[in-house]
Amino acid sequence: MMAAAEKKNRPDPGRQVRVRCLACFARFVPSPASDRARCPACGLWWRLAWVGEDFAKIRGPVWESFPGMEDVDI
Ligand SMILES: [Zn+2]
Repeated sequence: MMAAAEKKNRPDPGRQVRVRCLACFARFVPSPASDRARCPACGLWWRLAWVGEDFAKIRGPVWESFPGMEDVDI
């Protein structure tokens, strides 16, 4: 039936939130509502911005977690 065909094109409501690491481009699932997430592939921490409850974007790096960055004079 038509209704069933339309339903197939809907996004899965049960899908997990995923973000993509800006350093190694691995996709991973951040902790819900957390403002930081660690990439399991390269180990770097990222600051998250939540858009609603089920969508997150990476805002930028958590500088303290970047090797060598603490020694940089700005
Ligand atoms: Zn990574």
